[in-house]
Amino acid sequence: MQFDKYDIVVAGAGIAGISAAVASARLGVSVLLVEHYPFPGGMSSAGMVSPFMKSVTGGKNLVRGIYLEIENRMRQTGGMIDNGFYSWAFRAVANHMLVEAGVHMAYNTDVAEVFRNGRNVTGVKLISPAGYRIVEASQFIDTTGDAQLVALGGFPWLKGDENTGRLQALTLFFRMGGINVKRTAEYSAQHPDDFLPWMDFNFDFSRIVSIAGYKGLIKKAKDEGRFPADVDYVFFTTLPSSGEGSFNTTNILGIDPTTSYSLTLAEQEGHRQVAQIVDFLNRDVPGFEKAYLIDTAVQVGVRETRRAVAQYMVKGHDILSGAKFPDAIARACYGIDIHGQKDEESRMDELQEGDYYEVPLRSLRVAQSDNLFVAGRCIGSTREGHAALRIQPTASATGEACGVAAALAVRYKQNPDDVPYILIREHLAHNLD
Ligand SMILES: Cc1cc2nc3c(=O)[nH]c(=O)nc-3n(C[C@H](O)[C@H](O)[C@H](O)COP(=O)(O)OP(=O)(O)OC[C@H]3O[C@@H](n4cnc5c(N)ncnc54)[C@H](O)[C@@H]3O)c2cc1C
Repeated sequence: MQFDKYDIVVAGAGIAGISAAVASARLGVSVLLVEHYPFPGGMSSAGMVSPFMKSVTGGKNLVRGIYLEIENRMRQTGGMIDNGFYSWAFRAVANHMLVEAGVHMAYNTDVAEVFRNGRNVTGVKLISPAGYRIVEASQFIDTTGDAQLVALGGFPWLKGDENTGRLQALTLFFRMGGINVKRTAEYSAQHPDDFLPWMDFNFDFSRIVSIAGYKGLIKKAKDEGRFPADVDYVFFTTLPSSGEGSFNTTNILGIDPTTSYSLTLAEQEGHRQVAQIVDFLNRDVPGFEKAYLIDTAVQVGVRETRRAVAQYMVKGHDILSGAKFPDAIARACYGIDIHGQKDEESRMDELQEGDYYEVPLRSLRVAQSDNLFVAGRCIGSTREGHAALRIQPTASATGEACGVAAALAVRYKQNPDDVPYILIREHLAHNLD
Protein backbone atom coordinates (compact mmCIF):
# COMPACT_ATOMS: atom_id res chain seq x y z
CA MET A 1 0.00 0.00 0.00
CA GLN A 2 1.19 3.53 -0.80
CA PHE A 3 2.21 5.71 2.21
CA ASP A 4 2.58 9.50 2.03
CA LYS A 5 3.23 12.33 4.45
CA TYR A 6 2.00 15.93 4.26
CA ASP A 7 1.93 18.78 6.73
CA ILE A 8 -1.83 19.17 6.32
CA VAL A 9 -4.60 16.99 4.93
CA VAL A 10 -7.80 18.78 3.97
CA ALA A 11 -10.76 16.45 3.38
CA GLY A 12 -13.51 17.77 1.11
CA ALA A 13 -13.05 20.31 -1.72
CA GLY A 14 -16.16 22.43 -1.35
CA ILE A 15 -15.70 26.18 -0.98
CA ALA A 16 -14.53 25.68 2.63
CA GLY A 17 -11.92 23.05 1.75
CA ILE A 18 -10.66 24.98 -1.29
CA SER A 19 -10.23 28.09 0.86
CA ALA A 20 -8.49 26.10 3.61
CA ALA A 21 -6.11 24.36 1.20
CA VAL A 22 -5.19 27.55 -0.69
CA ALA A 23 -4.68 29.56 2.52
CA SER A 24 -2.39 26.98 4.10
CA ALA A 25 -0.40 26.21 0.94
CA ARG A 26 0.26 29.93 0.49
CA LEU A 27 1.91 29.88 3.91
CA GLY A 28 4.47 27.41 2.59
CA VAL A 29 3.33 24.10 4.08
CA SER A 30 2.60 20.93 2.10
CA VAL A 31 -1.10 20.27 1.62
CA LEU A 32 -3.11 17.36 0.26
CA LEU A 33 -6.73 18.10 -0.64
CA VAL A 34 -8.86 14.95 -0.85
CA GLU A 35 -12.14 15.04 -2.76
CA HIS A 36 -14.77 12.43 -3.51
CA TYR A 37 -15.72 13.95 -6.89
CA PRO A 38 -13.30 14.23 -9.84
CA PHE A 39 -13.56 18.02 -9.51
CA PRO A 40 -13.67 20.69 -6.79
CA GLY A 41 -16.64 22.75 -5.61
CA GLY A 42 -18.98 20.48 -3.62
CA MET A 43 -22.31 22.27 -3.34
CA SER A 44 -20.93 25.21 -5.39
CA SER A 45 -20.37 22.94 -8.41
CA ALA A 46 -21.92 19.47 -7.98
CA GLY A 47 -24.90 21.02 -6.17
CA MET A 48 -25.12 23.90 -8.70
CA VAL A 49 -25.89 26.24 -5.77
CA SER A 50 -25.98 29.89 -6.81
CA PRO A 51 -26.08 32.80 -5.96
CA PHE A 52 -23.69 33.63 -3.11
CA MET A 53 -25.73 34.78 -0.15
CA LYS A 54 -25.29 38.13 1.51
CA SER A 55 -21.93 39.11 3.00
CA VAL A 56 -22.15 42.90 2.64
CA THR A 57 -24.02 44.95 5.22
CA GLY A 58 -24.31 48.67 5.72
CA GLY A 59 -21.97 49.10 2.75
CA LYS A 60 -19.29 47.02 4.49
CA ASN A 61 -17.89 43.96 2.74
CA LEU A 62 -17.39 41.44 5.56
CA VAL A 63 -15.78 38.61 3.59
CA ARG A 64 -12.79 39.38 1.41
CA GLY A 65 -9.68 37.21 1.14
CA ILE A 66 -9.93 34.01 -0.86
CA TYR A 67 -13.70 34.34 -1.24
CA LEU A 68 -13.33 37.68 -3.02
CA GLU A 69 -10.57 36.25 -5.22
CA ILE A 70 -12.92 33.45 -6.30
CA GLU A 71 -15.62 36.02 -7.06
CA ASN A 72 -13.34 38.33 -9.01
CA ARG A 73 -11.84 35.53 -11.05
CA MET A 74 -15.28 34.15 -11.92
CA ARG A 75 -16.31 37.63 -13.12
CA GLN A 76 -13.21 37.73 -15.34
CA THR A 77 -14.26 34.44 -16.97
CA GLY A 78 -17.74 35.84 -17.67
CA GLY A 79 -19.19 33.20 -15.40
CA MET A 80 -20.51 35.54 -12.69
CA ILE A 81 -22.76 38.60 -12.59
CA ASP A 82 -23.89 40.31 -9.40
CA ASN A 83 -23.87 37.44 -6.90
CA GLY A 84 -24.91 34.67 -9.34
CA PHE A 85 -22.49 32.29 -11.05
CA TYR A 86 -22.21 29.18 -13.18
CA SER A 87 -20.91 25.99 -11.62
CA TRP A 88 -18.40 25.59 -14.49
CA ALA A 89 -16.89 28.97 -13.58
CA PHE A 90 -16.52 27.98 -9.94
CA ARG A 91 -14.94 24.67 -10.87
CA ALA A 92 -12.45 26.22 -13.30
CA VAL A 93 -11.42 29.04 -10.97
CA ALA A 94 -11.04 26.73 -7.97
CA ASN A 95 -8.79 24.39 -9.96
CA HIS A 96 -6.58 27.30 -11.08
CA MET A 97 -6.23 28.70 -7.60
CA LEU A 98 -5.39 25.31 -6.07
CA VAL A 99 -2.73 24.60 -8.71
CA GLU A 100 -1.22 28.09 -8.38
CA ALA A 101 -1.01 27.69 -4.59
CA GLY A 102 0.83 24.38 -4.97
CA VAL A 103 -1.86 22.23 -3.34
CA HIS A 104 -1.67 18.52 -4.20
CA MET A 105 -5.12 17.35 -5.16
CA ALA A 106 -6.43 13.80 -4.84
CA TYR A 107 -9.78 13.87 -6.66
CA ASN A 108 -11.88 10.74 -7.14
CA THR A 109 -10.74 9.79 -3.68
CA ASP A 110 -12.64 9.21 -0.44
CA VAL A 111 -11.46 9.26 3.12
CA ALA A 112 -12.43 5.76 4.25
CA GLU A 113 -10.81 5.57 7.69
CA VAL A 114 -9.28 7.90 10.27
CA PHE A 115 -6.43 6.80 12.56
CA ARG A 116 -5.88 8.45 15.91
CA ASN A 117 -3.68 8.25 18.91
CA GLY A 118 -5.64 9.73 21.80
CA ARG A 119 -6.45 13.35 20.95
CA ASN A 120 -4.30 13.30 17.82
CA VAL A 121 -5.39 12.25 14.36
CA THR A 122 -2.33 10.51 12.93
CA GLY A 123 -3.46 9.61 9.43
CA VAL A 124 -6.23 8.78 7.02
CA LYS A 125 -6.87 5.80 4.78
CA LEU A 126 -7.96 6.91 1.32
CA ILE A 127 -9.71 4.89 -1.34
CA SER A 128 -9.50 5.72 -5.04
CA PRO A 129 -9.78 3.68 -8.25
CA ALA A 130 -6.10 2.77 -7.70
CA GLY A 131 -6.87 1.19 -4.32
CA TYR A 132 -5.99 2.17 -0.77
CA ARG A 133 -3.42 4.75 0.30
CA ILE A 134 -2.41 5.89 3.79
CA VAL A 135 -1.55 9.54 4.35
CA GLU A 136 -0.08 10.92 7.57
CA ALA A 137 -0.03 14.60 8.49
CA SER A 138 0.41 16.81 11.51
CA GLN A 139 -2.84 18.80 11.05
CA PHE A 140 -6.19 17.69 9.56
CA ILE A 141 -9.06 19.84 8.34
CA ASP A 142 -12.54 18.37 7.94
CA THR A 143 -14.44 20.27 5.26
CA THR A 144 -16.53 17.33 4.09
CA GLY A 145 -19.79 19.09 4.93
CA ASP A 146 -20.83 15.91 6.73
CA ALA A 147 -18.08 15.99 9.40
CA GLN A 148 -16.79 12.71 7.98
CA LEU A 149 -13.34 12.92 9.60
CA VAL A 150 -14.96 13.74 12.92
CA ALA A 151 -17.39 10.82 12.65
CA LEU A 152 -14.87 8.30 11.27
CA GLY A 153 -12.37 9.35 13.96
CA GLY A 154 -14.93 8.67 16.70
CA PHE A 155 -15.10 12.30 17.84
CA PRO A 156 -18.48 13.62 19.03
CA TRP A 157 -20.89 15.26 16.62
CA LEU A 158 -24.50 16.44 16.51
CA LYS A 159 -27.12 16.17 13.81
CA GLY A 160 -30.29 18.14 13.21
CA ASP A 161 -32.62 19.93 15.57
CA GLU A 162 -31.63 19.50 19.24
CA ASN A 163 -35.21 18.61 20.26
CA THR A 164 -36.77 16.93 17.25
CA GLY A 165 -33.75 15.66 15.25
CA ARG A 166 -35.24 17.26 12.12
CA LEU A 167 -32.86 18.08 9.27
CA GLN A 168 -33.42 20.79 6.69
CA ALA A 169 -35.12 20.01 3.38
CA LEU A 170 -33.03 18.96 0.37
CA THR A 171 -33.18 20.61 -3.06
CA LEU A 172 -32.10 19.40 -6.48
CA PHE A 173 -31.11 22.54 -8.39
CA PHE A 174 -31.86 22.80 -12.11
CA ARG A 175 -31.32 25.31 -14.91
CA MET A 176 -33.64 26.36 -17.69
CA GLY A 177 -33.06 28.40 -20.83
CA GLY A 178 -35.37 30.20 -23.25
CA ILE A 179 -37.25 32.02 -20.49
CA ASN A 180 -38.91 35.29 -21.47
CA VAL A 181 -37.77 36.94 -18.24
CA LYS A 182 -39.50 40.26 -18.92
CA ARG A 183 -42.83 38.59 -19.64
CA THR A 184 -42.77 36.44 -16.51
CA ALA A 185 -41.59 39.40 -14.41
CA GLU A 186 -44.51 41.47 -15.73
CA TYR A 187 -46.86 38.65 -14.76
CA SER A 188 -45.47 38.67 -11.22
CA ALA A 189 -45.88 42.45 -10.93
CA GLN A 190 -49.53 42.08 -12.01
CA HIS A 191 -50.19 39.35 -9.39
CA PRO A 192 -48.11 40.43 -6.37
CA ASP A 193 -50.23 38.43 -3.90
CA ASP A 194 -49.16 35.20 -5.61
CA PHE A 195 -45.50 35.96 -4.91
CA LEU A 196 -43.31 35.94 -1.79
CA PRO A 197 -43.43 39.10 0.36
CA TRP A 198 -39.71 39.90 -0.07
CA MET A 199 -40.01 40.24 -3.85
CA ASP A 200 -39.04 43.57 -5.40
CA PHE A 201 -41.14 44.22 -8.51
CA ASN A 202 -38.93 47.12 -9.70
CA PHE A 203 -36.92 44.86 -11.96
CA ASP A 204 -33.56 45.88 -13.38
CA PHE A 205 -33.03 43.46 -16.27
CA SER A 206 -29.36 44.35 -16.60
CA ARG A 207 -28.85 42.64 -13.23
CA ILE A 208 -29.85 39.35 -11.63
CA VAL A 209 -33.61 39.05 -11.30
CA SER A 210 -35.10 36.92 -8.50
CA ILE A 211 -38.64 35.62 -8.77
CA ALA A 212 -40.41 33.48 -6.17
CA GLY A 213 -44.07 32.53 -6.22
CA TYR A 214 -46.73 31.66 -8.83
CA LYS A 215 -48.82 30.37 -5.92
CA GLY A 216 -52.20 30.74 -7.67
CA LEU A 217 -51.05 28.83 -10.74
CA ILE A 218 -49.42 26.18 -8.53
CA LYS A 219 -52.63 25.66 -6.55
CA LYS A 220 -54.52 24.91 -9.76
CA ALA A 221 -51.81 22.48 -10.96
CA LYS A 222 -51.76 20.77 -7.55
CA ASP A 223 -55.55 20.39 -7.62
CA GLU A 224 -55.12 18.65 -10.97
CA GLY A 225 -52.45 16.34 -9.48
CA ARG A 226 -49.62 17.51 -11.74
CA PHE A 227 -47.39 19.44 -9.33
CA PRO A 228 -45.25 18.11 -6.43
CA ALA A 229 -47.29 18.17 -3.20
CA ASP A 230 -44.33 19.37 -1.06
CA VAL A 231 -43.41 22.36 -3.25
CA ASP A 232 -45.25 25.60 -2.44
CA TYR A 233 -43.60 28.07 -4.81
CA VAL A 234 -41.17 28.28 -7.73
CA PHE A 235 -37.98 30.25 -6.96
CA PHE A 236 -35.38 31.11 -9.55
CA THR A 237 -32.68 33.67 -10.23
CA THR A 238 -31.62 34.62 -13.72
CA LEU A 239 -28.07 33.74 -14.73
CA PRO A 240 -25.52 35.84 -16.65
CA SER A 241 -26.90 34.91 -20.09
CA SER A 242 -30.32 36.37 -20.67
CA GLY A 243 -33.19 33.90 -20.69
CA GLU A 244 -31.50 31.47 -18.32
CA GLY A 245 -32.60 30.75 -14.79
CA SER A 246 -31.24 28.74 -11.87
CA PHE A 247 -34.04 27.06 -9.92
CA ASN A 248 -33.88 26.51 -6.18
CA THR A 249 -37.36 25.01 -6.13
CA THR A 250 -37.58 21.27 -5.51
CA ASN A 251 -38.32 20.42 -1.87
CA ILE A 252 -37.33 16.92 -0.80
CA LEU A 253 -38.55 16.05 2.68
CA GLY A 254 -38.21 13.20 5.15
CA ILE A 255 -34.60 12.43 4.20
CA ASP A 256 -31.53 11.94 6.41
CA PRO A 257 -28.77 12.65 3.89
CA THR A 258 -26.10 10.77 5.84
CA THR A 259 -27.27 7.43 4.50
CA SER A 260 -26.74 6.08 1.01
CA TYR A 261 -30.28 4.66 1.02
CA SER A 262 -31.85 8.08 1.75
CA LEU A 263 -29.68 9.91 -0.78
CA THR A 264 -30.75 7.40 -3.41
CA LEU A 265 -34.41 8.12 -2.63
CA ALA A 266 -33.68 11.88 -2.70
CA GLU A 267 -32.11 11.59 -6.16
CA GLN A 268 -35.20 9.79 -7.48
CA GLU A 269 -37.64 12.23 -5.84
CA GLY A 270 -35.62 15.26 -7.02
CA HIS A 271 -35.84 14.22 -10.67
CA ARG A 272 -39.54 13.39 -10.34
CA GLN A 273 -40.14 16.91 -9.02
CA VAL A 274 -38.01 18.59 -11.70
CA ALA A 275 -39.99 16.88 -14.48
CA GLN A 276 -43.33 18.01 -13.01
CA ILE A 277 -42.15 21.57 -12.33
CA VAL A 278 -40.73 22.03 -15.85
CA ASP A 279 -43.95 20.70 -17.36
CA PHE A 280 -45.99 23.07 -15.18
CA LEU A 281 -43.85 26.08 -16.14
CA ASN A 282 -44.17 25.29 -19.86
CA ARG A 283 -47.91 24.75 -19.71
CA ASP A 284 -49.11 27.32 -17.19
CA VAL A 285 -46.67 30.15 -16.61
CA PRO A 286 -46.46 33.23 -18.86
CA GLY A 287 -42.90 33.66 -20.14
CA PHE A 288 -42.07 29.93 -20.00
CA GLU A 289 -43.86 28.85 -23.19
CA LYS A 290 -40.56 28.22 -25.02
CA ALA A 291 -38.37 27.54 -22.01
CA TYR A 292 -36.45 24.27 -21.79
CA LEU A 293 -34.54 22.29 -19.20
CA ILE A 294 -30.77 22.72 -19.65
CA ASP A 295 -29.39 20.73 -16.78
CA THR A 296 -29.93 19.32 -13.31
CA ALA A 297 -27.24 19.41 -10.63
CA VAL A 298 -24.87 16.44 -10.35
CA GLN A 299 -26.23 15.76 -6.88
CA VAL A 300 -29.18 16.74 -4.71
CA GLY A 301 -28.27 19.74 -2.56
CA VAL A 302 -27.79 18.87 1.11
CA ARG A 303 -28.24 21.73 3.57
CA GLU A 304 -27.70 19.99 6.88
CA THR A 305 -26.13 16.82 8.25
CA ARG A 306 -23.55 16.40 11.04
CA ARG A 307 -21.87 19.23 12.92
CA ALA A 308 -18.73 18.74 14.97
CA VAL A 309 -18.75 19.24 18.72
CA ALA A 310 -16.20 22.03 18.90
CA GLN A 311 -14.59 24.01 21.73
CA TYR A 312 -17.31 26.62 21.16
CA MET A 313 -20.72 26.00 19.57
CA VAL A 314 -22.06 29.08 17.75
CA LYS A 315 -25.68 29.59 18.81
CA GLY A 316 -28.73 31.26 17.31
CA HIS A 317 -28.46 33.92 19.99
CA ASP A 318 -24.88 34.69 18.90
CA ILE A 319 -26.15 35.24 15.37
CA LEU A 320 -29.13 37.42 16.16
CA SER A 321 -27.41 39.43 18.93
CA GLY A 322 -24.38 40.15 16.72
CA ALA A 323 -21.95 38.43 19.13
CA LYS A 324 -18.29 39.47 19.06
CA PHE A 325 -15.47 37.19 20.25
CA PRO A 326 -11.90 37.72 21.50
CA ASP A 327 -10.74 34.97 19.11
CA ALA A 328 -12.78 36.09 16.07
CA ILE A 329 -11.63 34.69 12.74
CA ALA A 330 -14.50 35.76 10.46
CA ARG A 331 -17.53 38.03 10.29
CA ALA A 332 -20.93 37.48 8.70
CA CYS A 333 -24.37 39.05 8.47
CA TYR A 334 -26.59 36.25 7.17
CA GLY A 335 -29.47 35.32 9.46
CA ILE A 336 -30.99 32.02 10.55
CA ASP A 337 -32.35 30.35 7.43
CA ILE A 338 -34.08 27.01 8.03
CA HIS A 339 -35.81 25.26 5.13
CA GLY A 340 -38.50 23.43 7.06
CA GLN A 341 -38.93 19.70 7.16
CA LYS A 342 -42.35 17.99 6.99
CA ASP A 343 -44.59 19.64 9.64
CA GLU A 344 -41.97 22.34 10.29
CA GLU A 345 -42.33 26.01 9.42
CA SER A 346 -39.45 27.44 7.41
CA ARG A 347 -37.64 30.32 9.13
CA MET A 348 -35.66 33.33 7.97
CA ASP A 349 -34.60 35.51 10.93
CA GLU A 350 -32.57 38.37 9.53
CA LEU A 351 -30.17 40.85 11.14
CA GLN A 352 -30.72 44.59 10.84
CA GLU A 353 -28.84 46.20 7.93
CA GLY A 354 -25.37 47.16 9.23
CA ASP A 355 -25.31 44.51 11.98
CA TYR A 356 -22.96 41.55 11.89
CA TYR A 357 -21.65 38.78 14.15
CA GLU A 358 -18.25 37.17 14.52
CA VAL A 359 -17.19 33.52 14.32
CA PRO A 360 -14.70 32.36 16.99
CA LEU A 361 -11.64 30.24 16.26
CA ARG A 362 -12.86 27.79 18.93
CA SER A 363 -15.82 26.81 16.71
CA LEU A 364 -13.27 25.42 14.22
CA ARG A 365 -11.42 23.36 16.84
CA VAL A 366 -12.83 19.88 17.44
CA ALA A 367 -13.32 19.66 21.20
CA GLN A 368 -11.64 16.34 21.86
CA SER A 369 -8.79 16.67 19.37
CA ASP A 370 -5.53 18.61 19.33
CA ASN A 371 -5.01 18.60 15.56
CA LEU A 372 -8.43 18.33 13.88
CA PHE A 373 -10.20 21.43 12.54
CA VAL A 374 -13.65 21.81 10.98
CA ALA A 375 -14.98 24.52 8.67
CA GLY A 376 -17.86 25.22 6.33
CA ARG A 377 -21.06 23.30 6.76
CA CYS A 378 -19.84 21.07 9.61
CA ILE A 379 -18.59 23.92 11.84
CA GLY A 380 -19.18 23.69 15.61
CA SER A 381 -22.65 25.17 16.06
CA THR A 382 -26.16 24.55 17.24
CA ARG A 383 -28.78 23.93 14.57
CA GLU A 384 -29.70 27.62 14.54
CA GLY A 385 -26.06 28.74 14.43
CA HIS A 386 -25.41 26.34 11.57
CA ALA A 387 -28.44 27.64 9.65
CA ALA A 388 -26.68 31.03 9.45
CA LEU A 389 -23.04 29.95 9.05
CA ARG A 390 -23.65 27.41 6.26
CA ILE A 391 -23.72 29.91 3.36
CA GLN A 392 -20.87 29.98 0.86
CA PRO A 393 -19.13 33.26 1.79
CA THR A 394 -18.99 32.27 5.48
CA ALA A 395 -17.94 28.70 4.61
CA SER A 396 -15.06 30.19 2.61
CA ALA A 397 -14.05 32.55 5.44
CA THR A 398 -14.06 29.77 8.05
CA GLY A 399 -12.14 27.49 5.66
CA GLU A 400 -9.52 30.17 5.07
CA ALA A 401 -9.17 30.67 8.83
CA CYS A 402 -8.63 26.92 9.40
CA GLY A 403 -5.99 26.91 6.68
CA VAL A 404 -4.12 29.77 8.32
CA ALA A 405 -4.37 28.39 11.88
CA ALA A 406 -3.31 24.88 10.81
CA ALA A 407 -0.38 26.19 8.73
CA LEU A 408 0.90 28.33 11.62
CA ALA A 409 0.65 25.33 13.95
CA VAL A 410 2.85 23.42 11.47
CA ARG A 411 5.27 26.34 11.07
CA TYR A 412 5.76 26.81 14.83
CA LYS A 413 5.48 23.07 15.60
CA GLN A 414 2.82 23.80 18.18
CA ASN A 415 -0.60 22.63 19.23
CA PRO A 416 -2.92 25.06 17.36
CA ASP A 417 -4.31 26.19 20.74
CA ASP A 418 -0.82 27.45 21.65
CA VAL A 419 -0.30 29.52 18.50
CA PRO A 420 -0.79 33.14 19.61
CA TYR A 421 -4.16 34.36 18.31
CA ILE A 422 -2.57 37.67 17.27
CA LEU A 423 -0.48 35.80 14.64
CA ILE A 424 -3.56 34.09 13.21
CA ARG A 425 -5.47 37.37 13.19
CA GLU A 426 -2.66 39.11 11.29
CA HIS A 427 -3.21 36.74 8.36
CA LEU A 428 -6.98 37.25 8.48
CA ALA A 429 -7.00 41.02 8.95
CA HIS A 430 -8.84 41.49 5.62
CA ASN A 431 -11.88 39.77 7.17
CA LEU A 432 -11.66 41.44 10.57
CA ASP A 433 -10.94 45.14 9.92
C1 LIG B 1 -30.17 23.55 -1.85
C2 LIG B 1 -29.19 24.49 -1.26
C3 LIG B 1 -29.33 25.85 -1.48
C4 LIG B 1 -28.39 26.72 -0.97
N1 LIG B 1 -28.49 28.06 -1.28
C5 LIG B 1 -27.44 28.85 -1.00
C6 LIG B 1 -27.37 30.13 -1.59
O1 LIG B 1 -28.27 30.55 -2.32
N2 LIG B 1 -26.27 30.90 -1.32
C7 LIG B 1 -25.25 30.46 -0.50
O2 LIG B 1 -24.29 31.21 -0.32
N3 LIG B 1 -25.31 29.24 0.06
C8 LIG B 1 -26.36 28.41 -0.19
N4 LIG B 1 -26.39 27.15 0.31
C9 LIG B 1 -25.36 26.71 1.29
C10 LIG B 1 -24.03 26.37 0.67
O3 LIG B 1 -24.14 26.01 -0.70
C11 LIG B 1 -23.31 25.23 1.39
O4 LIG B 1 -23.60 25.17 2.75
C12 LIG B 1 -21.80 25.41 1.20
O5 LIG B 1 -21.52 25.45 -0.19
C13 LIG B 1 -21.07 24.30 1.91
O6 LIG B 1 -19.71 24.35 1.57
P1 LIG B 1 -18.72 23.30 2.23
O7 LIG B 1 -17.41 23.51 1.56
O8 LIG B 1 -18.80 23.38 3.70
O9 LIG B 1 -19.31 21.85 1.88
P2 LIG B 1 -19.64 21.16 0.50
O10 LIG B 1 -19.82 22.13 -0.60
O11 LIG B 1 -20.76 20.21 0.81
O12 LIG B 1 -18.31 20.33 0.17
C14 LIG B 1 -17.96 19.16 0.86
C15 LIG B 1 -17.08 18.32 -0.08
O13 LIG B 1 -16.58 17.21 0.64
C16 LIG B 1 -16.58 16.07 -0.21
N5 LIG B 1 -16.58 14.88 0.65
C17 LIG B 1 -17.54 14.50 1.53
N6 LIG B 1 -17.16 13.39 2.16
C18 LIG B 1 -15.95 13.07 1.68
C19 LIG B 1 -15.04 12.00 1.96
N7 LIG B 1 -15.28 11.05 2.86
N8 LIG B 1 -13.87 11.98 1.26
C20 LIG B 1 -13.58 12.93 0.33
N9 LIG B 1 -14.41 13.96 0.05
C21 LIG B 1 -15.57 14.01 0.73
C22 LIG B 1 -17.86 16.26 -1.02
O14 LIG B 1 -17.82 15.52 -2.23
C23 LIG B 1 -17.86 17.76 -1.26
O15 LIG B 1 -17.22 18.12 -2.46
C24 LIG B 1 -27.32 26.24 -0.17
C25 LIG B 1 -27.18 24.87 0.04
C26 LIG B 1 -28.10 23.99 -0.51
C27 LIG B 1 -27.90 22.54 -0.31
